[in-house]
Amino acid sequence: MAFEQEKEIAIAAAMAAAKVCEQVRQTMVPEAIEKKDKSPVTVADFGAQAVVCKALAESFPHDPVVGEEDAGELKTPEMAEQLQQVTDYVKQVTGDATPEQVAQWIDHGNGEVADRYWTLDPIDGTKGFLRKDQYAVALALIADGEIKVGVLACPALTLGDKTGLLFVAVRGEGATMQTLDGGSPEPIRVTDSSDAEHFRFVESVESGHGDQGLQGAIAKAAGVTADSMRMDSQAKYGAVASGNAVLYLRLPSPKYPGYQEKIWDHAAGVIVVEEAGGRVTDMHGKKLDFSKAARLSTTGVVVSNGEIHDKVLEALKQSAG
Ligand code: AMP
Ligand code: MG
Repeated sequence: MAFEQEKEIAIAAAMAAAKVCEQVRQTMVPEAIEKKDKSPVTVADFGAQAVVCKALAESFPHDPVVGEEDAGELKTPEMAEQLQQVTDYVKQVTGDATPEQVAQWIDHGNGEVADRYWTLDPIDGTKGFLRKDQYAVALALIADGEIKVGVLACPALTLGDKTGLLFVAVRGEGATMQTLDGGSPEPIRVTDSSDAEHFRFVESVESGHGDQGLQGAIAKAAGVTADSMRMDSQAKYGAVASGNAVLYLRLPSPKYPGYQEKIWDHAAGVIVVEEAGGRVTDMHGKKLDFSKAARLSTTGVVVSNGEIHDKVLEALKQSAG
């Protein structure tokens, strides 16, 4: 099997990061630290990035990691207390570590897109994490212009009778789902359109991360009449991949029309859905290109069970006039 070591290391790293995040949620009320772009970050985001980057640096020292966070602010004297907090949480999963090491691990995630690289969102859906809703640790390996491995840990996600889920996909080898507490991986598949119960769509909770009005109208035009399920993070990709929804729509928010999606918000989710038999494109039907830069050059994201994809793209074309 291909990428066996990459898969194993990625799974262990994402599980350790998920543990850090859950530990933070259970033992403190995480405070949002505002970043330059006004988006929030918490000690858990930093801790999760440190843990994953440490694991990747040790096993694959030559692979750049393009992660969401950097330790720039965290290293300033005013933030010494927060860096110490991050270090205390990280130590619970890595063993001994100093604040300097933790900052270095976080900054290992400041790499750039290359022929082969990892992309990491240590907490995708930080707003959901703060609200005690959904979030995900999302990690993917891209090589030769293609996503090869994707791992998505969703500690707060419940599907059926299981809570705390891990999605894993390797190119050409299918996608699986397992519980984060050590359950065995089970193959997953998107659902077909005859499954009325799951013929529904998912979208962001945050109205500023999409166009909920248009998303509802497009879903309806494609035959999905049930109300959307609103969910933070790439857990939405997990919902489609596991057959719990047929569609995930992320159309540009009218508030931020020029927004370019970031690779770490999609790479892991995309391969999980593709390997589960689904399809992912931008809103014009173009493939998402993870080989160029930290931001995608395409517009919007359409994720489906494959079967209804063309109908959704057609509805989008019609709505554009
Ligand atoms: P979600 O949980 O699906 O709402 O997505 C969370 C992600 O949305 C964050 O990781 C941000 O990178 C991303 N994001 C921030 N602003 C926007 C925006 N205007 N449009 C789409 N995504 C955004
Ligand atoms: Mg994110």
